[in-house]
Amino acid sequence: MKVRMILTIVLVLAAVAAPAGCRSAGGDGDRLDVVASVYPLAEAAERVGGDLVRVRNLTPPGAEPHDLELAPDDVAAIVGADLVLVVGGGFQPAVEDALAQTEGDTLEALSLVPTLSADGRVDPHVWLDPMRFAAVVEAVGRALAELDPAHAEVYRANASAYRAELEALDRAFRRGLSSCRSRLLVVSHAAFGYLADAYGLEQVSIAGVSPESEPSPAHLAELRSLVEREGVTTIFTEELISPAVAETLAAETGARTAILSPLEGLTPEEVAAGEGYGSIMRRNLRRLEVALGCA
Ligand SMILES: [Zn+2]
Repeated sequence: MKVRMILTIVLVLAAVAAPAGCRSAGGDGDRLDVVASVYPLAEAAERVGGDLVRVRNLTPPGAEPHDLELAPDDVAAIVGADLVLVVGGGFQPAVEDALAQTEGDTLEALSLVPTLSADGRVDPHVWLDPMRFAAVVEAVGRALAELDPAHAEVYRANASAYRAELEALDRAFRRGLSSCRSRLLVVSHAAFGYLADAYGLEQVSIAGVSPESEPSPAHLAELRSLVEREGVTTIFTEELISPAVAETLAAETGARTAILSPLEGLTPEEVAAGEGYGSIMRRNLRRLEVALGCA
């Protein structure tokens, strides 16, 4: 028992001293350590890096990434990473603060694409436009190639294969949403600004750009009359935040609810089913086509 405890302590200390295995640490040490602060960035690193990288997503399955709090081993992983991928723009202040301590490279998604503003600050949800996300994917490829020039061709090839999938997804959205009865999207929190921008939709949200902001009674009254006036069929909810207000709004107006994933994180069930960005975005598209009455 005592031996096991000492062994555990030694292992914990080793993990802190050499977070997630530096390249020089032997064993799996040839792989690049990539830390991503939110699911889509982790998927980008996994798809582009393949077996050459080890990816740690700071947002665990089932958790919501806004204002993510870090455990000490998260900070250690950031410090020791070869590459840290973050959203930026104050989306996760604790993560952005910890970047000052990392010895690795950092990539901020919001610095790579044209941004939109929401609630008077930059809208962080860039990954919900597949083509903006493709630009982030290509930047991840360039960053990995720079860190590991021996495999530069692999990273470039993986990034362009993934980009081709995102381009196909973009075409599916353009086709699917080209002719719809309504272009008004009523959602839980304002995560879909980039998607709305890319496909000519108008987003109206119950909460603001942060899911925890509480809607005022006046805002809810406005939403109720908008939903009734425009004949909105569906109030979109999310799996990682409470649907209570959306359900009330739906019940009061005769609309129904459906889940539209902002892809801020996967649920444990989605992870188990092998879902990812592409499959969940296609599910989002099917639900949008139904809700908006697209031909
Ligand atoms: Zn969000």
